[in-house]
Amino acid sequence: MKIGIPREIYEGEKRVAIVPKMATQLLKEGHEVFIEANAGEGAYFTDIEYDRIGAIIVENAQLLYSEVDVIMKVQPPQREEVEMMRDSSIYIGFLSSVLDDEFLNLINKKSITSFAMEFIPRISRSQSMDALSSMASIAGYRAVLIAAQHLGKFFPLMMTAAGTIPPAKVLVVGAGVAGLQSIATARRLGARVEAFDTRPAVREQVESLGAQFIEMELVADAETATGYAKEMTEEFMKKEREIIGERAAQNHVVITTAQLIGKKAPTLITEEMVERMQEGSVIIDLAAEQGGNCEITEPGKNICRHGVTICGVLNLPSTLPIDASAMYSRNITQFFKHLYNGENRKLDFEDKITKSSCVTHNGEIVNDYVRNAIRKGANT
Ligand code: NAD
Repeated sequence: MKIGIPREIYEGEKRVAIVPKMATQLLKEGHEVFIEANAGEGAYFTDIEYDRIGAIIVENAQLLYSEVDVIMKVQPPQREEVEMMRDSSIYIGFLSSVLDDEFLNLINKKSITSFAMEFIPRISRSQSMDALSSMASIAGYRAVLIAAQHLGKFFPLMMTAAGTIPPAKVLVVGAGVAGLQSIATARRLGARVEAFDTRPAVREQVESLGAQFIEMELVADAETATGYAKEMTEEFMKKEREIIGERAAQNHVVITTAQLIGKKAPTLITEEMVERMQEGSVIIDLAAEQGGNCEITEPGKNICRHGVTICGVLNLPSTLPIDASAMYSRNITQFFKHLYNGENRKLDFEDKITKSSCVTHNGEIVNDYVRNAIRKGANT
């Protein structure tokens, strides 16, 4: 197949969907790889490297899109990108944030077969394709480094001739993939860490990383069948905010990562709670993209309120573009191999990974989740 890698045009995006090492793998499988000039520049992969391994450098996006059967991207395509895609071509990349009626009509009119990386089911068999986890772990790591940069204190215990300085205290709320990586990174930097999550299953993982799990009466059915957190009752959230508020005032850094799939992020920190925190504290709100876990977070901005710095961080994986591209590239290559490895490179819709991740095919929405979401949207 002819595989095309365009340059990402989303503002500030530095990742590239396929790095030279993975392009080599695709070439070995008998595919042709076309890459737009300078597509790897933001992640420091040069055209010379791609050229050396046998990829074809294409001067501009228009030429690239007109040449290939498959487009591999990081950021969801913008309208102008879809317009450049060939009829009946294949799109693989993140997608969910652009899936509305208008977008779906556009790709269906062109009969584009589209796959959303974020819909790959998180089962053992698909671990090597799980871009959500790869990118979340980068975000969790980066969040701690940003916190350390803003905090006017050391993270580790320092015993110096000028006195002993106790370690920084870090609170992580939401111990999914990002939260667990934040815990591990903050521990490596020597901080004292405590964490909380509504899913009782994560207690053991938090403790195994050397952090303390915050005690709270947990609800037994806090998880959906697919392992995601359920939306909690207002009564539970009130109690949780009380406990988080108390703990936040004792910590120097708070990293929030709590998300609910397909919904706005839960509000865990109110302005009144920020007011009670110590002057000089830092909040890193990893849920800023989904509205934020802190009610005064401003997405994309660092603000200071009541002596507390609140960072509404966005697209952290792009701030570590070399490794983020390498990880994403491996995920998308494995996924592509899985999708088209059968005889005649035919899709197998009986397969759970293919079925869950395919959004449109032959001019129709084939994904139940997307179909239901669109139907609900149309009714409200
Ligand atoms: P996420 O990004 O959807 O959410 C982050 C965390 O916030 C989750 O741990 C969630 O429980 C927590 N949260 C939600 N509401 C909260 C609240 N009110 N207070 C505190 N915490 C709250 O999560 P994720 O990192 O994408 O992980 C989601 C699930 O997917 C987990 O069960 C994880 O173990 C699972 N997973 C499985 C695999 C695999 O099997 N291959 C890989 C990765 C993740």
